[in-house]
Amino acid sequence: MQIHPISCGLGYAFLIEGESGLVLVDCGSPHQEKKVLAIMDALGRQDLKLIWITHAHYDHYGSAAALHAKTGAPVGVHPADADALRAGRSDLGIVRGVGHLFPLGLGIAKVFVPLPPVNPEVLLEDGASLADFGLAARVYHTPGHTPGHSSLWLEDGTLIIGDLIGQDSRARKQSLLATDWQALQQSLARMQALNPRRVYSGHSPRAIPGDEFCSL
Ligand SMILES: [Zn+2]
Repeated sequence: MQIHPISCGLGYAFLIEGESGLVLVDCGSPHQEKKVLAIMDALGRQDLKLIWITHAHYDHYGSAAALHAKTGAPVGVHPADADALRAGRSDLGIVRGVGHLFPLGLGIAKVFVPLPPVNPEVLLEDGASLADFGLAARVYHTPGHTPGHSSLWLEDGTLIIGDLIGQDSRARKQSLLATDWQALQQSLARMQALNPRRVYSGHSPRAIPGDEFCSL
């Protein structure tokens, strides 16, 4: 299963080539849609079946409305984050450490580059399959960073986990932003118990080896 990480402003999008269609996981900040469309052109594929959003943050669904308009692909999210997408909200929860700088940074960013609201047409609960969208994958509800944060488990042992963890040169525990710090820890333990082969998080193109992820 081919996965193409795409740098989209403050976050990464992940374009997955499924058996019978493309699925995009997250889409970065606002006005990043051309970067995704360019990769689709390069692949010679226009069969985008779904734009799945791991959680309702500025740097993860900022270009969802534009990509939906250009491709016609529906936007999907866990129901608990759906209202935030509809309202164009990016709730940061209880910040820690340098995370205290984020509300200020987000406030400034939203003044200059507003966050377009988007209507999620596909609402999937924990355990739902993406087979209808041409991808052998399953959605897991992994709350904590936001109430409706979700992760994607692909059949080949790849896990895409949004901001459930942080990542710079190494993977690290999420230590800056959460709406529920206890739930965040429980969600991480649940994903580690899956023993994934490799893991992609929302702010790096590097796949984290499974043993590095499980030792967090
Ligand atoms: Zn986030």
